Amino acid sequence: MEKQNVPELFGSNVFDDREMRSRLSAKVYSSLRKTIDENVKLESDVAEAVAQQMKEWAIEKGATHFTHWFQPLTGVTAEKHDSFISPSPDGGVIMEFSGKELIKGEPDASSFPSGGLRATFEARGYTAWDPTSYAFIKDHTLCIPTAFCSYAGDALDKKTPLLRSMQALNRQAKRILKLFGKEVKYVRTSVGPEQEYFLIDKEMFEKRPDLVYTGRTLFGAMPPKGQELDDHYFGVIKPRVTAFMEDLNQELWKLGILAKTEHNEVAPAQHELAPIFSTTNVATDTNQLTMEIMQRVARKHDMVCLLHEKPFAGVNGSGKHNNWSMATDNGTNLLSPGETPYDNAQFLLFLCAVIQAVDDYQDLIRLSVATAGNDHRLGANEAPPAIISVFLGDELSAILDAIKNDTPYEGKEKEIMKLGVHALPRFSKDTTDRNRTSPFAFTGNKFELRSLGSSNSIACCNIMLNAAVAESLKQYADRLEGVANFEDELHDLIKETIKKHERIIFNGNGYSDEWVKEATTVRGLSNLKTTADAMPHLLDQKNVDMLIAHKVFTETELHSRCEIMLENYCKTVNIEGHTMVDMVRKNYLPAIENNLYSFAKTVSLMKSVSDKVKCQYEIKTMERLSELTDSILESVESLESALEELKSYDDIIKTSEAVRDNVITKMDKLRSFVDEAEMLSSEKCWPFPSYGKLLFSVY
Ligand code: ADP
Ligand code: MG
Repeated sequence: MEKQNVPELFGSNVFDDREMRSRLSAKVYSSLRKTIDENVKLESDVAEAVAQQMKEWAIEKGATHFTHWFQPLTGVTAEKHDSFISPSPDGGVIMEFSGKELIKGEPDASSFPSGGLRATFEARGYTAWDPTSYAFIKDHTLCIPTAFCSYAGDALDKKTPLLRSMQALNRQAKRILKLFGKEVKYVRTSVGPEQEYFLIDKEMFEKRPDLVYTGRTLFGAMPPKGQELDDHYFGVIKPRVTAFMEDLNQELWKLGILAKTEHNEVAPAQHELAPIFSTTNVATDTNQLTMEIMQRVARKHDMVCLLHEKPFAGVNGSGKHNNWSMATDNGTNLLSPGETPYDNAQFLLFLCAVIQAVDDYQDLIRLSVATAGNDHRLGANEAPPAIISVFLGDELSAILDAIKNDTPYEGKEKEIMKLGVHALPRFSKDTTDRNRTSPFAFTGNKFELRSLGSSNSIACCNIMLNAAVAESLKQYADRLEGVANFEDELHDLIKETIKKHERIIFNGNGYSDEWVKEATTVRGLSNLKTTADAMPHLLDQKNVDMLIAHKVFTETELHSRCEIMLENYCKTVNIEGHTMVDMVRKNYLPAIENNLYSFAKTVSLMKSVSDKVKCQYEIKTMERLSELTDSILESVESLESALEELKSYDDIIKTSEAVRDNVITKMDKLRSFVDEAEMLSSEKCWPFPSYGKLLFSVY
């Protein structure tokens, strides 16, 4: 690969601040900046001027089309391309792009899920430019990041509520900062998502209908070697993978994506990519793009990038870590302990806001990462449990304890800890933070939510996090504004909050059975194991009230989202069930039958030659395989009827419960019989590549 000048390459396909500043007039640039930074309404003449320059730039870069790029509730991004051409009187064309086209699009959106929000007769949806996320070029097309809503103004995407949640947090955080004497332009949340994925050989992938249709293997006996030697984690990266990563970095850098860290992960064929963090809506857009580009670049290298949460049973699945913090426009991280006692009190208040938010809205955070795919990971001893808790580390926990109990804090001079008097000890990133078992861990100056599945859009969990933290901050601001003695009231508030919400703090092993017991019985934390269990809580009154109060969702939007997410769960499992039936009837049973036939033929032939042969191998294997075919047949028939039964429910909650209780258990049973048959069968007669081939064939 040719050597590249990275600073020159970086962002070369993005209409970023550098391009805006150099191409727009000072007046247009400054009013666009105001829109971006302070959410000020964009004037139409500004939009017109920006559109002209954006078009010129895009055409110079070889673009012929433009698209409003959006994130409907399917979880993947959508785009509809229009070319810039417009007929000219002389019979030719000119390249045109107006401010109106930049600001607003009207895709016919009748085929996107709306959960009943968009009446079928009103197929129109609107897309609206999000100037805070830069436009970019992909495939000769100028992509304009947009929000997507219905004719009536209901959000049909993930970006709109995300932006609203950021505004809610901004509003409340500014109130709090004011109490500490700080006037800031804005507070924004930032996120760095660490992305896990698998890379497998394309030829192997294409031979597996389960991977092709569902993104995960539905059958497959364990290979003799899995991840037990831990020899893949941070191991030397194989040449084909290195070539892929180099290529991927180039593509991401061109798009202004801060791809930074890459390494092998725990499972064979598993890898991770982490970018440098950015503002949440930008991080969301770029994570969607990253996932898309990863899959595309892998194909170029004759590999397939699997983003499913659990492509292979028996080895780790893939997640995503959402590193989250809040910062002001001057770059102050509100989750960084400060230098002075006063700053520390402020830090502790923001910390409390997060702790309270996670405790009060455990269910929202849990359901924000709930999908059929992620259900395989949470609580399966490889990912944090479905129980949400907060890890603070020993040092910070000791400080909170000291405040709560009015007792001396050991780390400092032996005095009662009083806010406003004491500087907190400077704590470096907690060295004990290799607690990988916590779903939500404080890591020095940010929180890391580790429950996300690898294919999840990070929008969902950040909407809930931002909204829930905004709610805690609102309660604090309501209480603290206008009090006579701010310091005393603040101290009491922090103390009370710690007492009230300490049940959510847990620094131990989240994978242990004891924790599940303690969390659910002693502490009363919720343990929502599956999507079917979690999702209906979106409509719990306390959740609806909070999300509406902060203008993050309307009630109709919440109903529609709950329905869409449950529908998605049911459809996903339904496709998996049908794929299993298909593979069993068309491939596995016939293959085993062939095998049986050849055993039977061998035995009768051998016995006809000599009456001394025992044919033990053939007969024993044949007998067990024959039993297994009976079990497989019985299981596949029972799965078929469970799938058929789903059609009889007209209620999505009932359907999702039937999927959870009936369909998934039958799929598991069927798989166990087929996997046993695989172990007894010759590789030659087996219809699909084995786990060994899938996991170990990329060099
Ligand atoms: P690790 O989790 O392995 O310790 P890092 O500390 O390097 O890794 O951080 C992982 C991710 O967290 C990176 O994407 C990084 O950019 C991001 N990150 C670091 N600081 C912040 C912050 N203040 N807010 C949000 N994300 C952050
Ligand atoms: Mg991390």
